[in-house]
Amino acid sequence: MYQLSETHEMLRETCRDFADKELAPLAGEFDQKHLFPENQVKKLAELGLMSVAVEERWGGSGLDNLAYAVAMEEISRGCASVGVVMSVNNSLYCDPVSKKATDAQKENFLKPFATGEKLGCFALTEPGNGSDAGAASTTAVRDGDEWVINGTKSWITNGYEADATIVFATTDKSQKHRGISAFLVPMPTSGLSLGKKEDKLGIRASSTCNLIFEDCRIPSDNLLGEPGEGFKIAMMTLDGGRIGIAAQALGIAQAAFEAAIAYSQERKAFGGPISNLQTIQFKLADMATRIEGARLLTWRAAMLKDAGERYTKEAAMAKLVASETSTFVTHQAIQIFGGNGYVTEYPVERHYRDARITEIYEGTSEIQRIVIASNVIKEFA
Ligand SMILES: Cc1cc2nc3c(=O)[nH]c(=O)nc-3n(C[C@H](O)[C@H](O)[C@H](O)COP(=O)(O)OP(=O)(O)OC[C@H]3O[C@@H](n4cnc5c(N)ncnc54)[C@H](O)[C@@H]3O)c2cc1C
Repeated sequence: MYQLSETHEMLRETCRDFADKELAPLAGEFDQKHLFPENQVKKLAELGLMSVAVEERWGGSGLDNLAYAVAMEEISRGCASVGVVMSVNNSLYCDPVSKKATDAQKENFLKPFATGEKLGCFALTEPGNGSDAGAASTTAVRDGDEWVINGTKSWITNGYEADATIVFATTDKSQKHRGISAFLVPMPTSGLSLGKKEDKLGIRASSTCNLIFEDCRIPSDNLLGEPGEGFKIAMMTLDGGRIGIAAQALGIAQAAFEAAIAYSQERKAFGGPISNLQTIQFKLADMATRIEGARLLTWRAAMLKDAGERYTKEAAMAKLVASETSTFVTHQAIQIFGGNGYVTEYPVERHYRDARITEIYEGTSEIQRIVIASNVIKEFA
């Protein structure tokens, strides 16, 4: 069941080669200088990685979600910041637009984004609510042929570079989360401004900022899906997004693991390489085992999505295990590097910082446990 097909293996090789040659050597500099990896993102587009699972007729690569997970892991193994730029465009922007937009909307809001000519972002979180996404206070009010949006969205990845966003806003407060609708907003647009670029612990080459809507008018045609369907679209999108973040977490963990194993064979202590020491070997064994387990969960969730089956629980399990594995593995990698693990001359301190976000965005580990628990309890009811 978990044997990759020839197509998936070829994609994996291509992405690995690209990551080794064009991402890993520059990732440290991008991180230190907070540089958006513009040329690398262009190359991802040339490789068809900006919308792996979108149909070819809409500019995508027409592959499946397993292919997306495989590619995302390899790209994030090279540079986690490039990984998040890719994941937002693929799973948070193109996926819901491909599922919910009309054909007319897709011409403008999907095609150029799927080809990678343009970049998308996803604006759900607000300063006052993240995990509790149903409590959105941003509003959209109909005025003739337009919607008028007011409110602030926070922590928006790709905010500085994006050419459009999906924004979630309340259109009927009395309906609570069932009164939230989704909109397609071109960027830049009058009435939408950007907050300061956040100074982050990790994934520092990707931009994160507030989107501030002040009487921002968009055509009524830019409603995505039905009025009141926004919360459902957001949750559906995050289910798929979690597979991408699981794969990103895996890529970070794999990079740290490979660095640690190589270092353990070079570094000598007490008359031999430290890889001869059983304490180091046990760390490597735990790291390898947890990575492999997380990868199987991630691929399983992707395969269920490809099969058109329910995968909410499995995507949450994959994200939970892969992100906590990433934190564990990068922590152990620093330990294996000793003092050298603590300085920027070696990559593992960056991997450690990059890993941390995977336990927070697209639902914290606590939220994943809530999703998993509610599903398993239902299954045994
Ligand atoms: C770098 C970065 C990029 C991001 N990119 C995007 C983006 O592109 N688009 C977007 O919309 N958002 C984005 N986010 C927002 C992200 O998804 C939220 O930060 C995340 O969902 C957590 O929300 P919060 O920060 O408001 O934390 P809170 O919801 O305030 O949570 C604080 C703590 O309370 C816990 N908690 C909350 N509710 C419960 C509960 N019911 N039970 C148990 N524990 C609970 C949480 O797990 C957490 O530990 C990004 C965030 C960061 C940091």
